[in-house]
Amino acid sequence: VIYLDNHATTPCDRRVADEMMVWLVERFGNPHSTSHEMGRQAADAVAASLSVIAETLRVPDDTVVVTSGATESNNLAIDGICRHPRQKRRHLITSTIEHPAVLDVARRLRKDGFRVTEIGVHPQGHALAGQVDLVQLETALDDDTALVSIHWANNEIGTLQPIAAIAKLAHRFGALLHSDATQAVGRLPVDLHATDVDLISASAHKFYGPKGVGLLTFGGGVQRRRVRLKPMLVGGGQQRNLRSGTMSPANVVGMATALRLATSEIEATTEVTRKLRDQLFESLCDAIDPLELNGSELNSDRLAGNLNILLPDVEGEAWMAACRDVAFSSGSACSSVDANASHVIMGLGRSESEARRSVRFGIGKFNTAAELEQAIGLLSEAYERIR
Ligand code: PLP
Repeated sequence: VIYLDNHATTPCDRRVADEMMVWLVERFGNPHSTSHEMGRQAADAVAASLSVIAETLRVPDDTVVVTSGATESNNLAIDGICRHPRQKRRHLITSTIEHPAVLDVARRLRKDGFRVTEIGVHPQGHALAGQVDLVQLETALDDDTALVSIHWANNEIGTLQPIAAIAKLAHRFGALLHSDATQAVGRLPVDLHATDVDLISASAHKFYGPKGVGLLTFGGGVQRRRVRLKPMLVGGGQQRNLRSGTMSPANVVGMATALRLATSEIEATTEVTRKLRDQLFESLCDAIDPLELNGSELNSDRLAGNLNILLPDVEGEAWMAACRDVAFSSGSACSSVDANASHVIMGLGRSESEARRSVRFGIGKFNTAAELEQAIGLLSEAYERIR
């Protein structure tokens, strides 16, 4: 199978897996049992890894929480801020095209009496297609807004949000900004100090690290705005009481190594993935007529490896079923557990039927030109068969 679904997950870089192995098998101490050398070794490895992560994202060391992934990080950030006992504000703003790990948390808060505003994005055809409408954001903000939660880069259409401008607006009203940066970290330089974003979520498996580990940072704001988080997991009090449970040194070392490598390779990866992505689009345009893009133009505010297209006459699911040797995904996105038509594509103003005719490709750093050529052949041939 030719893997072109790098927004769903990426393969673990072998250099990352090698670094992790020693912490699984030989140095297996509990990083919270530091009364002996085995525990201290593990604790030191965790601390060094957290420093690497903090330095890369430009936050203080003690403001990184290790979680099971971005889903948990998003839950902890949004619920943690809104439900903190000292939180006086009762309004949350998010966008219509967030990942369900944001939208479902927001909707549960709404059920529990919070005011939740979901702002829209510019529609397909607009120069800023897929970007949140800053006028809508400004109109929605008020002095009761506790938090704005807008993703950094979209997982379906790859659109990059104007995150620094969003931070500025949120802060003008005294609100904090959380950004689900799951698709951005490791693919773009994510600098929380420069952008003044207060909190971000990420998952290691999106930047060639292991699955089941992620992070939440809460020290990004330039003025170190005070972030109070109500923990979700209570127990042993690990991670400054913010997330109880024994940390996995292998996972933390793996995440830090993956982040360090991915960040140092951003330029090279961007160049390679952009070239292959552009080639894929060009070739598919020759095979399928008419083919439309979902989201912004290819070489503007968009992740370099992302391609999301609208087919004229065939459902994405049917194309996928006819082309089993290429891994890509239909409009229902990141988790195919949800068979609904994509809310992201419909958020662009497209119809449900258009959303079902949309597919997403994610090119990653391990994809090669030869592989891509083969994939284009298979995709074109399968399309010809079913249309
Ligand atoms: N947020 C975004 C933007 C994503 O792309 C994903 C990926 O699935 C998630 C959150 C959830 O990540 P995870 O499943 O690793 O918790």
